[in-house]
Amino acid sequence: MAVQAHERATTVVGDTLRRLAGIVALAVIYVAGARLGLMLDAVAGFATLVWPPSGLALAALLVFGYRLWPGVAIGAFVANVWMGAPPWVALGIAAGNSLEPLLGAYALRKIEGFSNSLDRVRDVLGLIAIAALVSTTISATVGALSLLSGGIVSVPQLAETWRAWWVGDMMGVLVVAPVLLTWSTRPRQPRQPRRWVEVVGLGMSVGAAGAIVFSDITATFGQAYLFFPLLVWAALRFGQRGTTSTTFVISVITITGTALGNGPFVRPQLHLSLFALQLFMAVTASTFMILGASSSERRRAVEDLEVVQQGLENMVVERTAALTSMNTELHRRGAQLAEAQEITHIGSWEWDLATDVLRWTDEMYRICGLSPGELEPSLRDFLERVHPEDRAAVDEVVRQSVTDAKPFELDHRVVRPDGTVRVLHARGRVFTDKTAKPYRLAGTSQDVTEQRAAEEALQKAHDELERRVQQRTVELRKLTQERLLLAAIVDSSEDAILSKDLDGTIVSWNEGAERLYGYSAEEAIGRNVNIIAPADRQNETMDLVAEIRQGKHVAHHETIRRRKDGTGIHVSLSLSAIRDAAGNIIGASAIARDITGRKQAEEERSHLLLELEDAVRARDALISIASHELRTPLGALQLQVHLLMRTLSRASAEQYPELTLPKLGSIDRQVSRLARLIDNLLDVSRITAGRLQLELEEIDLSAVLREIVARFEEELRRARCDVVLNADAPVVGSWDRIRLEQIMTNLLSNAIKYGEGKPVEIATSADDAMGRVIVRDYGIGIAPKDQARIFERFERVVSGRQAGGFGLGLWIVRQIVEAMGGSIGVTSELGAGSTFVVELPRKGATRSASATKPRSIPAPGDTGEPMGAEAEQVLVVEDDPDILEAVSEALRTEGYTVACAANGMEAIEYLKTARPCIILLDLMMPVMDGRQFLVAKAQSSSLATIPVVLVSADDQLARKAEELKVAGFIQKPVDMDRLLSAIAPHCPRA
Ligand code: ADP
Repeated sequence: MAVQAHERATTVVGDTLRRLAGIVALAVIYVAGARLGLMLDAVAGFATLVWPPSGLALAALLVFGYRLWPGVAIGAFVANVWMGAPPWVALGIAAGNSLEPLLGAYALRKIEGFSNSLDRVRDVLGLIAIAALVSTTISATVGALSLLSGGIVSVPQLAETWRAWWVGDMMGVLVVAPVLLTWSTRPRQPRQPRRWVEVVGLGMSVGAAGAIVFSDITATFGQAYLFFPLLVWAALRFGQRGTTSTTFVISVITITGTALGNGPFVRPQLHLSLFALQLFMAVTASTFMILGASSSERRRAVEDLEVVQQGLENMVVERTAALTSMNTELHRRGAQLAEAQEITHIGSWEWDLATDVLRWTDEMYRICGLSPGELEPSLRDFLERVHPEDRAAVDEVVRQSVTDAKPFELDHRVVRPDGTVRVLHARGRVFTDKTAKPYRLAGTSQDVTEQRAAEEALQKAHDELERRVQQRTVELRKLTQERLLLAAIVDSSEDAILSKDLDGTIVSWNEGAERLYGYSAEEAIGRNVNIIAPADRQNETMDLVAEIRQGKHVAHHETIRRRKDGTGIHVSLSLSAIRDAAGNIIGASAIARDITGRKQAEEERSHLLLELEDAVRARDALISIASHELRTPLGALQLQVHLLMRTLSRASAEQYPELTLPKLGSIDRQVSRLARLIDNLLDVSRITAGRLQLELEEIDLSAVLREIVARFEEELRRARCDVVLNADAPVVGSWDRIRLEQIMTNLLSNAIKYGEGKPVEIATSADDAMGRVIVRDYGIGIAPKDQARIFERFERVVSGRQAGGFGLGLWIVRQIVEAMGGSIGVTSELGAGSTFVVELPRKGATRSASATKPRSIPAPGDTGEPMGAEAEQVLVVEDDPDILEAVSEALRTEGYTVACAANGMEAIEYLKTARPCIILLDLMMPVMDGRQFLVAKAQSSSLATIPVVLVSADDQLARKAEELKVAGFIQKPVDMDRLLSAIAPHCPRA
């Protein structure tokens, strides 16, 4: 700022100083000019005919500006005072003299485009009219009036004074101002050296002309117009500067010459001479200045014309250069086009319709598999190269395009000479003449084979992508639906579903979890899962997470959890791993199910089960006891019946009513049936209790079968069943005799029951591994749908009314057969009969209790002991008096002597004195039971050898026969025949 301000101040000061200097210089020059003018004759000493300061002042103000006007005023004032004018007169004159150049300059500047060089006619006319003729009147008027007022001139002198003043000032303006103005401006053209010669020539000519005009010798030629050719020379050759300068020089010469009293202008008085001279000079100056200006204008016009011409020429040169470069460019472009065509495989062509000449670019040849220029193709040639399948279409499109005068575009194939096929994209356009008649078809053909292939591949890829996107969209939609579904399931699940990260921090918590554990999702999420673990299971949650971390799956882990209110709850937990996209385990999801209810139900159930088991045990015990208890009276009954029958059969018919014996037979059969039913019940309870025991021994299946059939003889006869028995060949295997009998008894009794009146075929067969029993009847048969279920417990096809039974027989048979490692099957047709086949492995059974050796039966009289003379042959030890009586009676009937004992103690007593051949011993007795008796007997050496046959309702005891060291076992109810055959070996009849 300071610097700027300083600079501004400096500029202002400098400016002011320069102005002051200008003013002072102008004033000094003004005064000098005034002194020069006043040297000549002046009117009244003041109004001189030559007044250079007026031109000086005007030129100064025009060149340096109005601001130098004080210089004019000061100069005029000083000059007039110097000449002796009173100050106020000088002041008036100074004012007039200042006003004159100010107004003159002002007016000239108003001329549009006014230039100090005065090289326009308009400017020169302005100078003459405004500055020389008009503005000078101000100075002349003010000056003359000032002199009048100062009494320096009188009224009569006023006109003369005014005229001299006016003309003097006019001369200043016309002669002095122009030369200053023209020299103050820059010449338009640089000076040329040789023009100086001309300048010197002109100057010398002017000097010579001056000498001629103003010397006596040549008075004959003393005419002022001699200067004219020189002024014309100056005006035409040197422009306004030359004109004004020459005018100035001529003015100086003429004034000087005239002042010295020579030349054509000489009058009687100097000022009159000068007046004439001045008029001449004013006219001359004005005229030649106009000529100079017009010559300048002409020259300028010529120059301008030259400039224009030069410009035109330059333009032509430029255009030519541009044209040349354009040509080069065109060539370059042509080459580029060819190159571009080659690179882009675009060939272009032109078909002249009138001549049918087809012009191809090089690339077009190459595209068609030809070398450039190889042939001059016609449209026909071209069409022949088009792929046969596209040919018709191309021909059609091209011809249509010509007909319609419309552009075309199409893809087609061409076949190259080597047989390769290329795809071209062709575009063409029709050119028509003024009458709209087509004359040319031109266009391009681009080899787009690779592009189309790429497009096709791209399209395929795009389609594939699209397909995949659609597939993924469908998958995504499905996934989203599944997720929504899953979310809905999780939300609506009754189970608690939660997830946690590997630190055990809860991440999600469903409504089920809220319900189960009592914590809301806000309360639970972010906390450790331990909040739901009871104090004694705090480690368990992290142990489970550790298992998940190892990639294990925890399923149905039953544990206890703690609710928010502190109560415990039984839950079943299933945990699985949550994996991130990379498959890393990042957490676990847990599903917890409230199993408190189930736990309670389980407890109740196990309680019930125990109760049930107790009940079943009680039932089985009841059945066991009941059947045992039923057997005893039944045994007595049967014995009595047998006894009665034997007695009757020996007696004569007259001793009893005729029907008694058949009735007794009927009673016997019913008793047997009852006994079988009881046996079955007992077996069921045993089998279900797992107490079925097998006693294996070498047995001939055929022999057992024959024996059973013999036992059923009566029953078969009564049912009118003819028996076809085919069991002669022995089939020996390791089996349980009693159970075999049970199997056969059941099958046979069924055959009789359901095949009444029809024959029954019974057979055995065998191979190396198996023994077989086949029982075939021709009875009611079993529908295929029922064939499997008849082997189940309590399953019956017939109703109770049709045939009696519990539906237990076949079940028991199957249990026994399977226990022996065998199988039972049935083939049957409804109404045509049934065939039951039992297959038993010959070696060993699966559920054998203890394999026992065949029982050794002591030979008769093998005791080695002498028999007591009066001893009865058979001692029957039995607490049931009915059975005791029935058995003893039956034996006596058969010819045995019999002793009786009600218990073991009585028997011991009896044996102290007697020695029977055999003892029939009941096991369950008061006072001393069978077992105790056996122990006591074994201890006595004399008694030990007496054989004992056990008689008991408990068939299991048969197994114990060996262990108890007894000779045999007979099951109650006692079958008389079996009893006798058991006794016979040991005891000869009395
Ligand atoms: P039960 O004879 O006491 O009813 P089983 O277990 O012996 O019981 O027989 C079961 C059922 O099988 C019988 O009720 C009967 O309907 C059918 N069944 C058994 N054997 C024969 C057979 N030989 N012929 C036709 N049906 C039979």
